[in-house]
Amino acid sequence: MKDKSTQGDFWCWILSILNLFDFFTLLFSFGFFYVLSIVFLKTGGLNLLSYVPAVYLQCLVIFCLGDLKHYLWHRFMHALPFWELHKYHHSATEFNLITTSRGHFLERGVLVFFDSLLFSLMGAPLAYFAIFLWIKEFYNQLLHSNLNWSLGWFGKYIFVSPKAHKLHHSKAPEFYGKNFGGIFVFWDRLFGTFMSTEKEITIGLEENPYNAYGFWWDMMEGVKAFGKSSLLLTKKLF
Ligand SMILES: [Zn+2]
Ligand SMILES: [Zn+2]
Repeated sequence: MKDKSTQGDFWCWILSILNLFDFFTLLFSFGFFYVLSIVFLKTGGLNLLSYVPAVYLQCLVIFCLGDLKHYLWHRFMHALPFWELHKYHHSATEFNLITTSRGHFLERGVLVFFDSLLFSLMGAPLAYFAIFLWIKEFYNQLLHSNLNWSLGWFGKYIFVSPKAHKLHHSKAPEFYGKNFGGIFVFWDRLFGTFMSTEKEITIGLEENPYNAYGFWWDMMEGVKAFGKSSLLLTKKLF
C-alpha cells in the first residue's frame, strides 16, 4: 500500500471492522460524547414516531430524517472548531472503497451525539436505524469509490451522485461548503448548497498536514488542532 492516504483509510477501516473504532472514540474523548448521549436518551424520549400510523411509513420517516441528520451533522462538522476534526476525512488524496471509513475518532463522537438526538426525539426501534445505517454505509462506499457518475436527472434532484461528493472533497476553494448530502440530494437543494460542475476535480486539502507521519500521529494532530481552534474561539467569544 504505497499511498499514505490509503494507509489512513485502511487503519480506520480495520479498526471499524474489529469494532475498535468506538473504543478509541471513547478513549480520546474520555467518554464525553457517550455520557452526553446517554443523558439525552434518558431525559428525551418524545417518541414522535408513535404518531406515524403504519410501520412502512415509520421506516420511511426514519430513513428521511436519518439522512437529514447526516446533512446537518456534516454542515456542523464544516464549522470551526469541528472542521479541525472533519478535516482528516477531507485529507484523503484518493478515493477507494474504504475511504468512507476515514474519519477522526472525535468526529465519530459528535456523530454518536447527533444520532442520540434523533433517537430520543423519534423513539424508533433500533432495527429501523440498523436498516438505515446498512444502506447508508453501502451508499457511502459508492460515493467514495472514485466513480465519475453524475446519475443524470436523479443526481440533480433525488440522489447524491459520486461526482457531487467528489466536488465536496475538492481542493479548489470555489467548491467549499457544497454538497453535504449523504443519500438524498434534495437537502442540498432545499438549503441552497447544491453545486455541479464539468471541471476536472482534484480532491484533498490546499494545505494538508496529514498522511506524512502515520495514522496515530494524524489522530493526535487532529486533537491538537481541535483544541487550539476551540481555545481561540473561546477567547474571541469572551
Ligand atoms: Zn465534508
Ligand atoms: Zn467524503
